[in-house]
Amino acid sequence: MTDPTPAEWPRLSTLSTGLRCRCPRCGKGPLLKGLLTIRDACPVCGLDYGFAEPADGPAFFAMSAIGVVGMIAFMAFEFTVQPPIWVHFAVTFPLIALACVLVLRPFKGWLVSEQYIHKAAPPEWESIGKHGD
Ligand SMILES: [Zn+2]
Repeated sequence: MTDPTPAEWPRLSTLSTGLRCRCPRCGKGPLLKGLLTIRDACPVCGLDYGFAEPADGPAFFAMSAIGVVGMIAFMAFEFTVQPPIWVHFAVTFPLIALACVLVLRPFKGWLVSEQYIHKAAPPEWESIGKHGD
């Protein structure tokens, strides 16, 4: 990973760069290619995205956020309109699933930006060899 030089690369808002899926260092280059694949490096400033590994974080935040918002919308729709159950299978549930997919990109961008700003690295474990003694 190329370390940022503070004078060259001022700290950008993780929400601004992350939610727009832009490079956390320059804020201009794209972070993702395709739907959710992280690029190898920023095409604008050359930042190596090797540090970026949000794992299941985006899925957790997407399910949690859409779970709360989707259930509120689902219950409001159910209690006010009282549609037949097939309407929920045809409209409500696909909308909730689609919303989960649509928010994955911004959540992934935000988590990668947070990893960059906080210099997150994979944990390094070392055994002290005292188990069982
Ligand atoms: Zn960049």
